[in-house]
Amino acid sequence: MSSIFIISAPSGSGKSTLVSGLMTHEPRLRFSISYTTRSPRGAEKHGKDYYFVSRDEFEEMIARDEFLEYACVFDNYYGTHRGEIAKAMQEGKDLVLDIDVQGARQLQEKIPHAVSIFILAPSREELELRLRARSDTKEDVIQRRLQGAAEEIRNYDQYDYVLVNRDVVESIDTLCSIIKAERARRVRV
Ligand code: 5GP
Repeated sequence: MSSIFIISAPSGSGKSTLVSGLMTHEPRLRFSISYTTRSPRGAEKHGKDYYFVSRDEFEEMIARDEFLEYACVFDNYYGTHRGEIAKAMQEGKDLVLDIDVQGARQLQEKIPHAVSIFILAPSREELELRLRARSDTKEDVIQRRLQGAAEEIRNYDQYDYVLVNRDVVESIDTLCSIIKAERARRVRV
């Protein structure tokens, strides 16, 4: 049985860097590749960062009940395919899902033993700085993401762990410690 780790964070909290650091340090983890209707950003690749699909394709997948969870985030669909858990089990790996708070809630209902981690930027100022540092992000997008972050942060109490990302190396270390401790847990509640 694979363990399931849900990681959520408002955009700009540094989550992608932490998740890729975690994946490098912990080879027994499989990263769940989501489906999305948003366009690729920067160097993102189909099949590595996301499966990029059209709205029609995504809606057909919803109709066929192919998603374990899905949500609409900033006007785009994002979803986890049901096959991701089976693939992790076949590989003998634990699964890491980078999903938003709506998706996390759906998964927690379906898989109560899933371990959930919420990542926060150290401050609103730092979050804004990080969002502005993304050269491909426009002002209206930044404002919406800041507002979205404020809404997401209100849901932090639905998570098992809350990690304030002050320092990347230290945060990756904390994530690795959470994974190790959860694997050593005798009983899951
Ligand atoms: P981004 O567009 O910045 O890559 O992601 C936007 C948001 O969508 C992030 O909060 C990310 O965690 C979330 N997200 C990515 N994949 C999924 C998914 O499969 N399901 C859900 N519910 N959210 C996702």
